[in-house]
Parts: sequence; structure tokens; C-alpha cells
Amino acid sequence: MTVRTRIAPSPTGDPHVGTAYIALFNLCFARQHGGEFILRIEDTDQLRSTPESEQMILDSLRWLGIEWSEGPDVGGPHGPYRQSERRDIYAEHAQRLIDAGHAFKCYRTSEELDELREARKAAGQHLALKPADLALDANEQAHREREGMPFVVRMQVPESGSCVVEDMLRGTIEVDWAQVDAQILLKSDGMPTYHLANVVDDHLMGITHVLRGEEWINSAPKHQLLYEYFGWDMPALCHMPLLRNPDKSKLSKRKNPTSINYYRRMGFLPQAVLNYLGRMGWSMPDEREKFSLDEMVANFDIQRVSLGGPVFDLEKLTWLNGVYLREDLDDQAFLKALMGWAFNPSYVGQILPQVRTRVDTLSDVAPLAGHFFSGLPDIDASSFASVKLEHEELLRLLQFLVWRLEVVPSWNKEALLAEVKTLCEYFDLKMKGFLAPVFIAVTGSASSTSVMDAMAILGSDMTRARLRHAINVLGGVSKKQAKRFEKEYRELP
Ligand code: GLU
Repeated sequence: MTVRTRIAPSPTGDPHVGTAYIALFNLCFARQHGGEFILRIEDTDQLRSTPESEQMILDSLRWLGIEWSEGPDVGGPHGPYRQSERRDIYAEHAQRLIDAGHAFKCYRTSEELDELREARKAAGQHLALKPADLALDANEQAHREREGMPFVVRMQVPESGSCVVEDMLRGTIEVDWAQVDAQILLKSDGMPTYHLANVVDDHLMGITHVLRGEEWINSAPKHQLLYEYFGWDMPALCHMPLLRNPDKSKLSKRKNPTSINYYRRMGFLPQAVLNYLGRMGWSMPDEREKFSLDEMVANFDIQRVSLGGPVFDLEKLTWLNGVYLREDLDDQAFLKALMGWAFNPSYVGQILPQVRTRVDTLSDVAPLAGHFFSGLPDIDASSFASVKLEHEELLRLLQFLVWRLEVVPSWNKEALLAEVKTLCEYFDLKMKGFLAPVFIAVTGSASSTSVMDAMAILGSDMTRARLRHAINVLGGVSKKQAKRFEKEYRELP
């Protein structure tokens, strides 16, 4: 058997370090067994998936040095590797399940589903909806079918008993079937859900081992049942521990930069980031901290993954990166890294329009545009002395902006301007007044190039990191304030 593993990211946002971490372990596992590692794009969520996000994921994994032998960009014998291009395959498989009695068309409306759930809640029952709960009487079912009403396809699931799933790291996992509902497989628009598409594709793409994040454990019983229904062998499952913040909470962009773009922009070296990700829950047999991808592959053993939540600690990563920069790179390599990072025509070219109207000599450029080539600006509370806002209002403004920027679907000047305008209205401030503190937070000074352009060029994670940094130097948001802010924030249009 040739070992085949995969990473199956959903292109719904920034390229997450967690994706790179799971990709790395899949790559190591496959290479160690002389197998193949492939990449598949799971874009069945049409509303949230974007081509920009897909491109960023591919670019950032490549930047890290992660290579796949099959994928949407490189092709391969099991394509297409983008789920949105495989609709017919899923429809046909859903039909197979219906024909065999393992799945059924469900014509329940969303109002009816809400009622069913409410009734269960009121009766203190578990919330899983079973096929029997969803059944309509035969006449009604026939009527809705005749009328061509929208329907979804759901899978049959046992009413009770327990499901036993084997995990490579966790051993036997037992889940009560009572908790598992009649999962939707095909949505009313004909698109598959994650569960159907994932199982069908892993099978058709010959995947032998699924290494994925532990947040997918609850899906395992449904997947196992689908494999049984289809009469297929299930790949071995391995649920990796989730990355955590130093306070052990789940790594999230609310607290820390999670986008690979941020680390790249910040001037981390790809080999250092990859090395650090390799230390997430895993260690070399001799416990050394610094190792290359090849060394990791040569020493890889999945059983050495420890399940206690690995902490993604920015300080440790920074230390390791420094070691690489100081000890690994000769002058040539250092220069190459520096130029690849920011001192290149493509990046400087973006900055040029920002500076050329404001300088007399070339030596004016660096002082004016230094914030494009730095990390977190060197500011403290006194940097905001010129801002005419009460302290709490200032914090609220910065915090609201961070929250809005967390969810802008595409990062460009127009979209950012729309967010800023909404907030100007909310805070009843003129654009200039609103942007004054933002300016200091993002550029580190009270006069510089346009802050809106700076945000657009610096990107989402660096911008948000700087705004969060400003909040911190201003003393931070207390728990009490955070609660109040969150409540007020929800009222925003
Ligand atoms: N599309 C899922 C994700 O975004 C894949 C999960 C899996 O590996 O099964 O992580």
C-alpha cells in the first residue's frame, strides 16, 4: 500500500498557521513512508470561499517549503482537486445512498426544524434530530415532492447505542449515537456538505491516512458510517492536538496573529516557522530545538506526538528565528532573505506612490516610510497625547476597528474605507478625527504617508497587530470594559 495523505483547507480567510502545522505533519508522515502528500481545496461553502484565499493558502504553504504532488495548481490523476468542480460526483454518490436506503430526501422547512428543536429543548431532550423526528407523513412528503419544494439529502443514523472509532493517537473513541443527528449530505442548492465531500474525495483520491485537527473528532462517527454505507475501507484517522495560546486557550486571531502572512510580513524565515511548527506537540528523539524539514522527516514518528495542547508561543518562535538569522545565514543568504522580504521591486513599488509626492531627496524616504519596513511601532501612551478623545473612548474606537477588520471579506482600500465610514458615523466623528489615533497606531507617528493606504499595503494581520499593540500600550481593555464594548459593538449596523 502506498501511503497517501492530504491537507484539505477551506479557502475562507487568511492562511492559518494551524493549516501549515497539519500540512507539515501530513507531509512528514507521507515522506517517511515513501508516500504521497496531496492538496485538495474544500470550497463547498460558496458564500465564504474566495479565490484570493485559495491563492494565499497555496502561496504561503509553498513559501514555508511545503510541496504537494497533486493539487488544483499542479494537477494529478485524481482531479479536479477543488470540490466546487466535483458537484456531479457528490450528487451521484448521494443518489447511491438514497437508492440503498442509507439516506433520504428531507423536505422540512427551516421553520419546522426550529420548532422541532425548540420542542426538544423544552422537553429537556438532546438536540440531535433523528430520521424519525424529521419524517413527514407519506401524503405530505409526496405533496412536497410533487410541488418541487426545496429539499436536502440527509444520512440515516442509528437512534441509540455507541459508535467506536479508532484513532492513531487516542486509541478507541466512543461516541453516543444519540448525540449524532441525521447529518445533511447534500444541501438544497445541490452542493455537498463537508462530510459527504470529504469522505467521497478521500476515498476517490486514495487517501490512506487522515491527519487532521482534533476539532474534527465529532465528525468521525458520521464519516465512519458513510464509509460503511458505501462499502469502502476507511483511512486511518489521526486527530492532532490543537494549537494553543500561551494561556492555553485555542489559538485564535482575536488574541494573536494566526495568519502565515503576518509571520512573513514580520520578517520571519520560512525555515524557522516550519521548524517551530514541527515542535508543536512533537520533538526530535534527542530533543534538539533546531532542525530542518529533512531532519524531521528522517526522524519522524507520529506516535511521538503528545496530546497535551501545544503552545504556539511568539516569543519562542522569535528566539528560534533569531538563531536562524544569526547562525545559519551567511551574508549572501541574509541579503537574499532581506531582499525577498521587503527590499524588492514588487514591495517597494507599492510604496512608491505613497512617498514620491512627499519627498525632496531620496534620503527622505526611509524616515517617512519606515513603518512599511518594521514590525510593531515603538509607541507608548504619550504618543497619543494629541488625540482629543477620552481614554475609554479611544480604546473603544481602536477595539471596534480591530473587530470590524477581523471580518472584512477582502482586504483592499475601498473595503477598509467602508468600515471606517461606518465607524465614523457611529462615533460621530469626522474622518480626520477618527483616523488620528489609527494613524499613530499604524504608522507609529503623527504624520506620515496615508494611513488608509498603509493599512491596505501592510495587510490584515499586521494592521490588526499594530492596532492591538496600541490598545496594549494604552493600558489595555479591562474585562469589564470588554464586556461593555462587546455589547455596544453588537448594535453596530
Ligand atoms: N476542510 C476541512 C478544514 O478546513 C478539512 C478537515 C479535514 O481534514 O477533514 O480543515
